[in-house]
Amino acid sequence: MDVHAMVEGYRTELLERLSKLVAINSREGTPTPDAPFGEGPRKALDTALKMMADDGFKTVDLDHYIGYAEMGEGKELIGVVGHLDIVPANKEDGWDTDPFVMTEKDGIVYGRGVADDKGAVVASMIAMKVIRDMGIPVNKRVRLIMGTNEETGSKCLHHYVEKEGSVDYGFTPDGDFPGIHGEKGMVAAVYRSKKTGIRAIKGGTARNVVCPKCTAEVDKCSYSRRALEDYFNSFDLEYTITDKEATDEITLIGTAAHASLPELGVNAISYLLCGLKKAGYQDPFVDFYCSHFGTNYDGTGVGLNVSDEYGALTLNNGVISMEDGVITGSIDIRFPVTYTAKQIVKMFSEHLEDDGGVIEIKGSHDPLFFPADSPLVKLLLEAYQEVTGDMETQPMTIGGGTYAKSIDNTIAFGCAFPGKDYRIHNTNEWCPVDELLLQAEIYVSAIIKLLNI
Ligand SMILES: [Zn+2]
Repeated sequence: MDVHAMVEGYRTELLERLSKLVAINSREGTPTPDAPFGEGPRKALDTALKMMADDGFKTVDLDHYIGYAEMGEGKELIGVVGHLDIVPANKEDGWDTDPFVMTEKDGIVYGRGVADDKGAVVASMIAMKVIRDMGIPVNKRVRLIMGTNEETGSKCLHHYVEKEGSVDYGFTPDGDFPGIHGEKGMVAAVYRSKKTGIRAIKGGTARNVVCPKCTAEVDKCSYSRRALEDYFNSFDLEYTITDKEATDEITLIGTAAHASLPELGVNAISYLLCGLKKAGYQDPFVDFYCSHFGTNYDGTGVGLNVSDEYGALTLNNGVISMEDGVITGSIDIRFPVTYTAKQIVKMFSEHLEDDGGVIEIKGSHDPLFFPADSPLVKLLLEAYQEVTGDMETQPMTIGGGTYAKSIDNTIAFGCAFPGKDYRIHNTNEWCPVDELLLQAEIYVSAIIKLLNI
C-alpha cells in the first residue's frame, strides 16, 4: 500500500485541523472545576477529541485533564502521547504573524504550536486514520493520548497513569527523530546563606534557565572596583556599577540558556559573585558560592563531576534572591542516564555545608534509559529509516525531560527532524507542511511495527 499517497490525501484536512487547534490559546490558565488547567487547554482538548469522535474513533475524556482516541482491539496497548497546551505567545514579542492565526507561506506554516506539539498531534491523528483506511489487522489497541499540561508540570499525564495505567509500547512525538533513548535524571535543591555582608541581590528568571541578569548591592570600598571591572572585561561581559549612598549597585548581564545546556549560556550570578571574590570582597557566602559552584557548571565543587558515555552532569544556578538578610538560590542538576538519583544524592550529601552557606536537597528523579538495542528503540529507528532513508542519525540522549519520564515503556520519537530549529517556545514558531506529512508517514510505519512486535 502506498502510505505516502494515503497521507498526502489528507494534506488539506491536516492543515484545517492544525489551524483550528492553533487558533485556541491553550496556555495554562486559571483552573475551574470543569477546566483543571484553565479554559484554553480545556477547549483544545474538547476540539481535538471531537475531531476524532467525528471520525468514528472511540474517545474518552479523563476529567478534562487529558483524553484519548482509540482504535483496535486486544489486551496490549500502544500509546502515542502528544500535548495540546502551549507556552505563552504574544504578537508584541516579535512575531511576524499572529501566533494564533496559522499562516502558510512558501510551504511553511507559522503559529504557536505548529511544531510543539499540536502539529505532531494532528500528524498522529492522520496516522490513525491512514492505518484504519489500510484495513490491516489491528491486534492491539492503539491510543492517541492528548494531554493539556505538558509545558507546566505534566499533571495531565500523571492523571492518565493514575486512572488508566501505563502503556505496553509508546512514543511521545515531542522530542527528536530518530528517538531519544535516554533522558538525564534530575536533582532539585536550594542553597541559603548563613553569613553575608551583601545588602541585596536578585537575579534569574526560572530554575531551569541559566541566569541572564543579576544585580547585587555591596558596601562601597569593600572591594576593588578596578579589579572587578577588569574581571568582567576579561570575559567581555556587559555590566553597570551605580553609585548609591553607602553602596554600589552592580548589574551584570549574562546569557540565558536551558539548564540542560548550560554551556550555551553565561550565568550572571556566578560571574558576579566570582568577580567580587576576585576583586577582594571578603564574605563567607561569596566564598561558599565560589567554592561550591564557581563559574563552571559540571558539579565539581559539590563532588558531582561525573559523566558516562552519553554525557556529563550539569548544574545550573537559575535564580537568586534575598529576604530578611538571607540569600536563597535554586540548583538544577541533570545527571547522566546510567546513574541513579540515590547515587547522586549520596555523593552530593557530603558537600552541602560550610560557614557561609548550606544546601538543601528538595527532590530527585531517576533518569530514563533504554539501551539502544531494546526493541522499542530499534523498531522506531527502523520506522524512521525506512520512511526517510536517513541511515546516519542515531537515537540520542538528552538533558531535558519529556512525557516519556511520566509513563512506562515510552520514549520520545519525533517530531523534530535532525539539525532543525523550529523556534519552539520562541517567536515565529514554524514547521514545513511536507514535514508534518512526513511525520504522519513515519508514525504509521512506527505504529505498524509496534502492532507486529
Ligand atoms: Zn512539547
